[in-house]
Amino acid sequence: KEFRNNVKPNWCPGCGDFSVQAAIQRAAANVGLEPEGLAVISGIGCSGRISGYVNAYGLHGIHGRALPIAQGVKLANRELTVIASGGDGDGFAIGMGHTVHAIRRNIDLTYIVMDNQIYGLTKGQTSPRSAEGFKTKSTPEGSIESTLSPLEIAMSAGATFIAQSFSSDLKQLTALIEAGLNHKGFSLINVFSPCVTFNKVNTYDWFKENIVNLDQFPDYDPTNRIAAMNKIMETNGMLTGLIYQNKERQAYESMISGFKPEGLANQELSLSQNQFDKLLTEFK
Ligand code: SF4
Repeated sequence: KEFRNNVKPNWCPGCGDFSVQAAIQRAAANVGLEPEGLAVISGIGCSGRISGYVNAYGLHGIHGRALPIAQGVKLANRELTVIASGGDGDGFAIGMGHTVHAIRRNIDLTYIVMDNQIYGLTKGQTSPRSAEGFKTKSTPEGSIESTLSPLEIAMSAGATFIAQSFSSDLKQLTALIEAGLNHKGFSLINVFSPCVTFNKVNTYDWFKENIVNLDQFPDYDPTNRIAAMNKIMETNGMLTGLIYQNKERQAYESMISGFKPEGLANQELSLSQNQFDKLLTEFK
């Protein structure tokens, strides 16, 4: 099961996205997928290139629209495992409307956000994840907007799986992606993935100093929604690990009556030859 291809990523040396790529490849192999059973759908941004760097079906979509495409792919070809991916600008700015509704819709796919708290591809502007006071060429006197908390938003939107990890912790990140792939419903995995070129504040060292690993709390129960929300707020959204999982709620597709598990292309047409010919005539 070889999820590596021979495309050389053109990320900057040291970019956190390399680890996310490696974790996806390892996790896909560990859960027993074959390359032809996986689709990676991405948006726009440095992180969006990842769909070309995994040996699987891939689609590099348009800005903020990875999730609508990924949901369409999953509903049309239910036999595929689908990963959507992108950056914090892609998913939490232009794509935020899609993110919230994909979360509450709970279609069975995994959304991995490479959160570097800046726009990297366009050479370093303030993003919704940048801290207050963050200085870039778009906010030279420091951002005066409050920082968006994707974990709190995901909880409020009714997420059934929320995890967060860090590019430097490949073991944890791989395990969380495996858990997301095995989850029956929408899984959100936010990954602190440093932009070493443009973000000189939220560096690897900064994350190491500020991250709160849930392993420190052996009694933490990720099925307790109120405890999860409290822990997110207590740690200012800096905690890593499996934060919340609800295995009771069914995935969207499981609740559609008559929904067939086979992909559309593998389903028998229930039309007679006459009906089929009539349909073709209508489309001519
Ligand atoms: Fe990574 Fe930043 Fe370079 Fe983009 S600009 S590839 S996010 S380090």
